[in-house]
Amino acid sequence: HQPVMSPSRHGWDGNGAAAVSSPMPKRLDGKVAIVTGGARGIGEAIVRLFVKHGARVVIADIDEAAGDALASALGARASFVRCDVSVEEDVRRAVDFALSRHGGRLDAYCSNAGVLGRQTRAARSVLSLDAGEFDRVLRVNALGAALGMKHAALAMAPRRAGSIVSVASVAGVLGGLGPHAYTASKHAVVGLTKNAACELGAHGVRVNCVSPFGVATPMLINAWRQGHHGAGAGLDDLDVTVPSDEEVGKMEEVVRELATLKGPTLRPMDIAEAVLFLASDESRYISGHNLVVDGGVTTSRNLIG
Ligand code: NAD
Repeated sequence: HQPVMSPSRHGWDGNGAAAVSSPMPKRLDGKVAIVTGGARGIGEAIVRLFVKHGARVVIADIDEAAGDALASALGARASFVRCDVSVEEDVRRAVDFALSRHGGRLDAYCSNAGVLGRQTRAARSVLSLDAGEFDRVLRVNALGAALGMKHAALAMAPRRAGSIVSVASVAGVLGGLGPHAYTASKHAVVGLTKNAACELGAHGVRVNCVSPFGVATPMLINAWRQGHHGAGAGLDDLDVTVPSDEEVGKMEEVVRELATLKGPTLRPMDIAEAVLFLASDESRYISGHNLVVDGGVTTSRNLIG
């Protein structure tokens, strides 16, 4: 008995999707990746997961001490290059570093580096918007992602393959979830992703982004500390202090309260898993997509904020 639509005739097996989704213990085997902002937080989880899945990973970050320490802890598969993503020369150098170290190959570029910006009450009002602060946040988050797309695509297009994944935010989908500059910058990342996907598909390069809800990283904990210290405390997200386990626990509690999905705690590794999927060949036909990892928050009518 022959089924009317035979799977083999329609590519459901053989060279089609079934072949791609068959069990792959190491989903980035032999691939080369760059992860910006990979020294800590969500970026660190992405780096660890990529290495676990067989990739050789270049950590590109401004935090030399943390980046070096992580690269040495992970062994030969990881390396560190100092890179400020808002400086084009740095981004170009990071891509060149990966290409020269790994035989001219770059398979995945993850633009994860980002800053939240000042979180004091004055900084949160559009009525006291600070042009310098706005510029700083946009340069890192939006220009940084755009420069990453440019230099990653220049390296990937000749091989007609590659995946660019940027970390945006639920603040790139909805208003009221972050400071103005941050919200504008993350909406920009989602828009850039769509535009670049339209253009780069012709070169075999996919472009996607992942939008997390709150994750208890140093970024969110610094913001929470500012809330506690109140306006004028002078803290900002460049103050790199390692949060205590207690602070991480408290922050996770705050996020769980706001979450729609009750039960699990959103962790950096949940975001890394989404990035891994978009970086791997399992998502080979997905481009221009914003994969929201929020347990349903942005679809809920009981929206936070
Ligand atoms: P984090 O502050 O804990 O870590 C950010 C990393 O980026 C650090 O290692 C830092 O040194 C690096 N970095 C900062 N500026 C840089 C620059 N100019 N060039 C290169 N590296 C730079 O932040 P995180 O929470 O891990 O955030 C990672 C990404 O996820 C960011 O883009 C952030 O906007 C996004 N995000 C975070 C959350 C959250 O709740 N934590 C939610 C949504 C989106």
